[in-house]
Amino acid sequence: EKIREAVDGEGRTVFSFEFFPPKTEEGVENLFERMDRMVAHNPTFCDITWGAGGSTADLTLEIANRMQNMISVETMMHLTCTNMPVEKIDHALDNIKNNGIQNVLALRGDPPHGQDKFVQIEGGFSCALDLVKHIRAKYGDYFGITVAGYPEAHPDMIQEGGATLEAYSNDLAYLKKKVDAGADLIITQLFYDTDIFLKFVSDCRQIGITCPIVPGIMPINNYKGFLRMTGFCKTKITSEITTALDPIKDNEEAVKAYGIHLGTEMCKKILAHGIKTVHLYTLNMEKSALAILMNLGLIEESKVTRSLPWRPPANVFRA
Ligand code: FAD
Repeated sequence: EKIREAVDGEGRTVFSFEFFPPKTEEGVENLFERMDRMVAHNPTFCDITWGAGGSTADLTLEIANRMQNMISVETMMHLTCTNMPVEKIDHALDNIKNNGIQNVLALRGDPPHGQDKFVQIEGGFSCALDLVKHIRAKYGDYFGITVAGYPEAHPDMIQEGGATLEAYSNDLAYLKKKVDAGADLIITQLFYDTDIFLKFVSDCRQIGITCPIVPGIMPINNYKGFLRMTGFCKTKITSEITTALDPIKDNEEAVKAYGIHLGTEMCKKILAHGIKTVHLYTLNMEKSALAILMNLGLIEESKVTRSLPWRPPANVFRA
């Protein structure tokens, strides 16, 4: 089944989980155990990333196929153009199609390690738009195609102090091209300022993008990881978050608890504005994602099999 229908469906609020391919065999088996527990809460879909530069191609395919057929969850596989001649792209798509997967997240990908700029390889694609066009041309309507959206503009477009209005508008116009070429769902890059996301949705609607726009939520799990991720993605960090995190940054449990609190508040606000799906970047961890969903009343406490830190000590984030 294509996830677009489920995400759009019946006015019900739904959720989904992103995972990435672990480095070791043991890690993969642990991930499947974790997925199994998380899928018991009925996410609408789960997705698996494509390692930077195609580094995990075979493993991503294997995990995607196992997710769809053994974990039995509607699966979306990420696919990037980096280091991928069209034959390899088609090999990956044929492989998942033969395994009954109907959902792909079509991405350009980042430049290969050590390179600054994305360069199209011979026989490959230069951007996600080319990949979307190719998938539609070769596979017709078989795949539901999701693309990435950037509420703060793509990092390549962001200078110090944020993207210019022109860069932001160009990025949006390009996103519309991806949708017009056949993408039917947008998942956003992580963000921590909910107003920026809501404005992005409204700007998309204004230029005629009508497909569902799913917010990508990354719970803060760890202070250093948070700084690394937001630095890499050039994400705006609100002063409220800085003020809350500063005094607790060395206390891992307190940071996690704040991450759950913040994620819950962000989702509440987004859902109150009529968005019907939240997509959780789990970083292969279950506690924070499940705790947020529990706080939102989207999953039942009785079904959570592990103890979760969803009730942080009251004095932790008195921001
Ligand atoms: P594109 O949509 O091609 O856009 C890239 C930039 O180029 C944008 O600024 C766009 O405006 C500009 N651009 C491109 N073509 C044109 C054009 N013709 N005209 C004007 N402007 C143009 N990376 C991975 O390696 N593996 C993953 O699994 C993965 N999953 C991701 C999931 C999500 C939800 C998101 C948001 C990102 C993910 N990424 C992943 C990161 C992604 O690969 C990078 O952000 C990459 O730099 C851009 O990919 P894209 O598909 O957004 O590129």
